[in-house]
This record gives sequence, structure tokens and C-alpha cells, in this order.
Amino acid sequence: VGECAECRRRLEAEFRYCPDCGSPQRIKIVEYFRGDRELDEGDLRVSAYITTPRHVRLSVWSGDRADAVVSLDPRETRRLARFLVALAPTTQRHRATGLTRRLRALIASPREF
Ligand SMILES: [Zn+2]
Repeated sequence: VGECAECRRRLEAEFRYCPDCGSPQRIKIVEYFRGDRELDEGDLRVSAYITTPRHVRLSVWSGDRADAVVSLDPRETRRLARFLVALAPTTQRHRATGLTRRLRALIASPREF
């Protein structure tokens, strides 16, 4: 059981919309990453939920089936992001920084999403 992000009424955690005020409860940003076929199989889907509880869900997909799923809280998400940015080659780091900036702006003002 959670509460509506808009009107604060109690509702079931799995509800996508509040039955009272109709506001969306799970706004998310999804990005897909193709796995390196020379190393192994599968692709990565990253879903960033910007409503409460904020988290990022990473899922490994084989075809149309998720083989594994893990969710990270915002603190661990930031730690993962720093880790990946530090590994990226310089040219990709600039792009990652731009993407990070846009995502931060989006998360700061989800209404403009
Ligand atoms: Zn509501």
C-alpha cells in the first residue's frame, strides 16, 4: 500500500493511476541497450521510475523474456552511474554527461516530461 503522488490518498502500490484523482503513479523513462553478441546473449533494459518510490530497474532480456531483474535505489543508481561514466572513453563521456544532464532535468521536473 502506498499513497498517491498527487492527492496523497492511500492506494495499492501496483496502481498505475490514482482511482481518485487520475494522476499517473508510475512515470518512467526506458532505455534499451544491445548486448555485445561476441561476448554473450541478451540485452539490457533500464527503467527509471521518477515517482515514489524512485528507483531504477535493470532487466536482462533474451528475446521477449526477462531473465533477471534488479532494482536500485537512487543512491545505488548514482553509484552505478559514476562507475559507468568513469569507464567510458572520453568522447562517450561527454555524451553520457549530456544525457545525465537531461535526465537530471527531467527527474527534477517530471511535470514537463
Ligand atoms: Zn490521487
